[in-house]
Amino acid sequence: MIKLISKAVVLSAFASFSMLKSQSVKEILQQNGSFRKDTIFSIKSDSKETYLPVTIIKGKEKGTVFTIVAGIHGYEYPPIVAIQELSKEIQPGNVKGTLIIIPIASVEAFQKRTPFINPLDGKNLNTAFPGSSNGTPTDQIAHLITKEIIPNSNIFLDIHGGDANEDLLPFVCYYNRKDTPENTQKAYDLSAKSGIEYVVSYPYTLTATEPAKYAFKEATQQGITALSIEAGKLGTVQKDNVNLIKTAVYNMLEHSGNYVTGKSKTETKKKTVLLNQQDYIRVPENGIFYSDLKSGDKIKKNQILGYITDEFGNKKHDIVSQTDGIILYKVGTPPVNKGETLFCIGYSEK
Ligand SMILES: [Zn+2]
Repeated sequence: MIKLISKAVVLSAFASFSMLKSQSVKEILQQNGSFRKDTIFSIKSDSKETYLPVTIIKGKEKGTVFTIVAGIHGYEYPPIVAIQELSKEIQPGNVKGTLIIIPIASVEAFQKRTPFINPLDGKNLNTAFPGSSNGTPTDQIAHLITKEIIPNSNIFLDIHGGDANEDLLPFVCYYNRKDTPENTQKAYDLSAKSGIEYVVSYPYTLTATEPAKYAFKEATQQGITALSIEAGKLGTVQKDNVNLIKTAVYNMLEHSGNYVTGKSKTETKKKTVLLNQQDYIRVPENGIFYSDLKSGDKIKKNQILGYITDEFGNKKHDIVSQTDGIILYKVGTPPVNKGETLFCIGYSEK
């Protein structure tokens, strides 16, 4: 039953697309008046077809174009559910400027319940940027976001969470791009206003021609204000993380002047903690991972964080921290593969 309904929705979405085929995001943005438009971009590669759903909500007054993306990873549910709710709640009449919303960037990964990758081509959309117009479906989705969405945006927010196997502490993050200080300051300000306690800044050393790989790094490279929320974990919908994301987005929209709701809950927020350094601990060898720690736990340098065994239960490696810090995310399930990130530890350096 559910399958039949979802198929009908897809078909009608395709039908509405064929009528709007020639309309680019730019053309929709130029239309007069205040409106909401749900549209899709069709993607074809050999015999494989998919689509990118896009909602554009234009307010009466001119203002910032604020883009919100969920579901670049289709198994990260709290961002997707939060954006479903937010998209229903927002009234075009209360919007200033424009919101561009991609409710699920990887619809195939979402529908087929696939962590990290698009099942159509086995590629991770989050490492595919800038993509290409004649590549596989994932390359084409990345290309559409790179060419249609980011250049028409002033602010680009990409929302992720812990995937099926990831235990994650909620945080907001941005790239510390030093040659565009105004954008970087704006990204920090939006992060600090989000109400999410932990703010993470990543180093930015990308040249103009290097592939950005990640969506919000692509937006940073294109010279707009870009940031990402990470909230949710282990492949489930947690109501508290859905609410955390919604509140953070409303707080950001209020700060950017795009939406005044009175829903902003900045008064309850804790003091922002900025973590500007990250230590990534990689998996040394395939095996079975044991750890009593969880995301958000504070750890010390030289602390044993867990261990890895083989299939016979023989301990192969202790995992030892190289730094004091807080666990931003870790693998939260037993199987681990050589080279994967096992822990990401955040800490601060002046
Ligand atoms: Zn993700």
